[in-house]
Amino acid sequence: MANAIATAASVQGLSRSFGDVQAVEELSLAVPQGTIFGIIGPNGAGKTTTIRILMGILAADAGTINVLGENDPRRIKSRLGYLPEEKGLYKKMQVGELVAWFGELKGMSRRDATDAARKLLAEFDLESRWRDKCDSLSKGMGQKVQIAATLVHDPELVVLDEPFSGLDPINVEMVRDAMLALKARGRTVILCTHIMEQAEQICDALALINRGRVVLDGTLAELTGSGDTLTVEYDGSGADFGGLPGVGRVNDAGNVAELSLSADADPQAILQELLKRVTVRRFDTTTTSLHEVFVRAVRDQGDEPMVDGEGEAA
Ligand code: ATP
Repeated sequence: MANAIATAASVQGLSRSFGDVQAVEELSLAVPQGTIFGIIGPNGAGKTTTIRILMGILAADAGTINVLGENDPRRIKSRLGYLPEEKGLYKKMQVGELVAWFGELKGMSRRDATDAARKLLAEFDLESRWRDKCDSLSKGMGQKVQIAATLVHDPELVVLDEPFSGLDPINVEMVRDAMLALKARGRTVILCTHIMEQAEQICDALALINRGRVVLDGTLAELTGSGDTLTVEYDGSGADFGGLPGVGRVNDAGNVAELSLSADADPQAILQELLKRVTVRRFDTTTTSLHEVFVRAVRDQGDEPMVDGEGEAA
C-alpha cells in the first residue's frame, strides 16, 4: 500500500489474551482511507477481538491503535459505525423509531435522524415496515435494520462484522451496494468475515488472519495476482495465437483457447492484439482464489489454517 494514501485506522503490535487463549498476537494492520478493507480469517482467528479493540470496546494487553487520528476511539463515537457480530434489536421498538434513535444517540437532531432513517430504510426496501415492531421482522430484515442503524449518522469509518450472515442473495446485493455507496462517498469500510469469496468480491485490500496473527496483507491484486491464465472464447477459423506478448503455452480447442501468461504479461495488450486476429466473444483472466492464497501463506509459515467446528478453513 502506497504511503501517499491516508490511513483511516491502524493497529500496531496488538496483543490480547483471554485466560490461556491468545486471541490476538502482535497483530499489525493499516486500513487505507476510502477503501473497503477486509479482515479475513477462519472462525476464532481473532478478527472480532481486533475490531472490538479498534472500536474501543475492549482494551489491548499490548500495542497501539489509531482510529481517524485518535488513539481513544471512545472520543469519536459519532464518527464511527459498528455492526457487531452478535446482532439484536430492541424488539418492542418500531423500526423507523429505532433507526432514528441510533442517529440521535450519535448526536443528530431528531429531524435529521428521521430523514436519514427514512432514506436508508428505503434503500433497504423496508420503507413499508417503518411502524412495525422489530420483533415482527424476518431475520434478514432485522439484519438490514441493524445495518441501517449502524449507518444512519453517516460515519466516516464503518466496521461491519459478518454483515452478510443470514441474508439471501438479493439482500446480500443490497448490503454490498450500500458498502460501495459508502466507498464512493469517500467513507472507509472494514469488513470482517470468514467467507473469503465475499471478501474477494468487494474488498480493495485485505489482511488475512490466522491464530491471532496477520499472515498476509495487501491489495486484492497484490494477494491474488493479476491472473496467470487467460481464457478466450472466439470466432475465427484458423486462429493464430503465435507471438502474443507475454503468452507462453496456448491450449486452443477451436472456439476456446487458454493462454498461459508470464508474470509481466499485460492482459489489455494481449486483448488488443487478439482483436486484430479474431472476434473475441469472452475474455477472462483466472486468478488464484483468496482461499488458496490464504492456505498457501499459512503453510509457507509451517502452520495449518485454523479449522473450527464448521469444518472449513475459509
Ligand atoms: P469468528 O469468525 O468465529 O467470529 P473471530 O476471528 O472473530 O472468530 P474472535 O472472536 O476474535 O475470533 O476470537 C479469537 C479467540 O479468542 C477465540 O479462541 C475465542 O474463543 C477467544 N475469545 C474471544 N473473546 C473472548 C472472551 N470474551 N472470553 C474468552 N475468550 C474469548
